[in-house]
Amino acid sequence: MRVLVIEDEQRLARIIRRVLEEEQYVVDLAFDGPTGEDLARTGDYDVIILDVMLPGRDGVAVCRRLRQDGVACLVLMLTARDALEDRVRGLDAGADDYLVKPFAFAELLARVRALGRRRTGELAPTTLQADGLVMDLLRHDVTRNGQRIDLTAKEFALLEYLLRHQGQVLTRTQILNGVWRYDADAASNVVDTYVHYLREKIDRNFGPKLLHTVRGVGYVLRG
Ligand code: CA
Repeated sequence: MRVLVIEDEQRLARIIRRVLEEEQYVVDLAFDGPTGEDLARTGDYDVIILDVMLPGRDGVAVCRRLRQDGVACLVLMLTARDALEDRVRGLDAGADDYLVKPFAFAELLARVRALGRRRTGELAPTTLQADGLVMDLLRHDVTRNGQRIDLTAKEFALLEYLLRHQGQVLTRTQILNGVWRYDADAASNVVDTYVHYLREKIDRNFGPKLLHTVRGVGYVLRG
């Protein structure tokens, strides 16, 4: 999957690229409207992540022009918090989905994945599993060995992230970037704290253990 990120906050654009590349996407960046639009026309992208507020030409105008010229790609618009009007304008201009800043990278990945599936006509998986642990993404519930486990929204998001990266050792920074909002002033020990909460719920009364600490590195969920 080829993704183009048009975002003038260069630091954010580079983090998005890194997060997507970790998921095996091929990513190009543009930092202003006209450059992004030129790339979009020539680059054969599956998904374009398009910020609304851009120098040169704003995201809504870029999207409208691409649509007018029949450029076939899916557009995920990034809009400012509370800018309802941007969202409406974006969708009117032909965007396929939007995400409000600041967002969690797990959310961004979920949206890009969903757009990618739309592109390929593949059906979305509705459950994630590991050794008796089942997360139902539609009903938003979790069971282990058939027993229901109550999780807070943040615990659910963390578990979803770990399940999607099953078997992969993740650093605290990766988890922080993936699950918490990128501008959150979260200390890295927030990850340790939530892993602890999660262990209490998914592992403590069950076996075998799923969540493992990799000393000096981070964590891994293994089913
Ligand atoms: Ca911007």
